[in-house]
Amino acid sequence: MKRTKIIDILQSQEYGQPVLAKGWVRTHRNSKSVHFIALNDGSTIKNVQIVADSEKFDADLFRLITTGACLSVEGLLTESPGSGQSCEIQAETINILGTCPADYPMQKKGQSFEYMRQYAHLRLRTNTFGAIMRIRHNMAMAIHTYFHNHGYYYFHTPLITASDCEGAGQMFQVTTKNLYDLKKDEEGKIVYDDDFFGKQTSLTVSGQLEGELGATALGAIYTFGPTFRAENSNTPRHLAEFWMIEPEIAFMDLEELMDLEEDFIKYCIRWALENCHDDLEFLNKMIDKGLLERLQNVVNTEFIRLPYTQGIEILQKAIAQGKQFEFPCNWGDDLASEHERYLVEEYFKKPVIMTNYPKDIKAFYMKIDEEKPVCNGKVMNDTVQGTDVLFPQIGEIIGGSVREENNDKLIAEIKRRNIPMKDMWWYLDTRKYGSCPHAGFGLGFERLILFVTGMQNIRDVIPFPRTPNNAEF
Ligand code: ATP
Ligand code: MN
Repeated sequence: MKRTKIIDILQSQEYGQPVLAKGWVRTHRNSKSVHFIALNDGSTIKNVQIVADSEKFDADLFRLITTGACLSVEGLLTESPGSGQSCEIQAETINILGTCPADYPMQKKGQSFEYMRQYAHLRLRTNTFGAIMRIRHNMAMAIHTYFHNHGYYYFHTPLITASDCEGAGQMFQVTTKNLYDLKKDEEGKIVYDDDFFGKQTSLTVSGQLEGELGATALGAIYTFGPTFRAENSNTPRHLAEFWMIEPEIAFMDLEELMDLEEDFIKYCIRWALENCHDDLEFLNKMIDKGLLERLQNVVNTEFIRLPYTQGIEILQKAIAQGKQFEFPCNWGDDLASEHERYLVEEYFKKPVIMTNYPKDIKAFYMKIDEEKPVCNGKVMNDTVQGTDVLFPQIGEIIGGSVREENNDKLIAEIKRRNIPMKDMWWYLDTRKYGSCPHAGFGLGFERLILFVTGMQNIRDVIPFPRTPNNAEF
């Protein structure tokens, strides 16, 4: 007999028909004459209830049906008299595919997420992590569907790179050199000409620079792949290995970029609401009672678009009225997360797209604004057409910008920042040969999953997190 997935069994109404289910035991309880087994196979958050008459089966068999054990059950599908489920399986035969001894670490309910992180290989079998991983899959589908439907090409940028100029973060080096016997020059500097690529290479911190090459040929591309940053930032928002989505679009201006960011992110959240109903309902009940409402709000609200300078004015006014922050916020400072949270969660109570940042706190490739901003009546320094999308609970979820397409201006900025030019020749060719206005952004996939699931720690929305001092599993 062919196995039926539990998600399909629960939707079936073929009562009286034989059915074969396979899965892992969630709970097992019994009254005098019957045993009730909740079985889950990962196809849905819901379990199917197996009803087994005590007399039909060996007592030894029931003793092996412990939480976590894997079973194959054949029986008749019947309408369920109990509440909470439409159908159940009256067991005819039960086979134990895999027993589960009493030291199974996921046995108890209500373990802390911290505890479960020690068992990242087994936590996937819990309701919560099952829900998160199904939502993660759905978000990947939403992203590919959105871009495909809008005429973007999925463009694969390299994970190994020889340029370290993006400055987005500390890099992990890639080498086949014998670390116990390093070739060095007279000054004692490591020589790379005998390394695999004949030069120093690292894991990418962003696919953007190569993405720009794709966009200025194909019109609109997106990347979706792993990204590596060796920053020692042990925060609930940072991973050393995370997934990033980076669309890059020719002929797009700042206004259109913000439209894209807002439309795209709303599409993803709407997708979750439409396709992950059971899992979201579960998370809303068990993890975060405000989750569904927050998701609905974001889909139904217009994001605030706020120039950095105006943001500073709002923050300074709040400080003048007695609001206390740990960090200062003068024009030119990078906003701390407490400032972002104030604007998003207290002042506007909506997602905020912050734009036109001071040039010096943003990357070299951002397009410089024509006019200098005025802050509290005073003319300030240059700003750039960068956008950060700031979300409640999360902070920065997207960072994007219009790119500087003028070759001279771009080179001047590269020189001003002492970025090694020799590594950049191929990137600068986009500006030399048929340069065009273009823009793009980077979305941290796990930050999106954090928002959609209501989880608090980024280590809990990726199957096997990589963070400082942690590369287990
Ligand atoms: P942050 O200031 O939060 O560290 P960033 O400004 O360094 O982020 P960007 O270079 O703008 O990040 O990268 C684009 C997006 O990638 C960010 O908006 C964020 O969603 C995500 N991101 C960046 N760093 C990480 C990380 N270490 N772990 C997970 N996601 C990240
Ligand atoms: Mn950023």
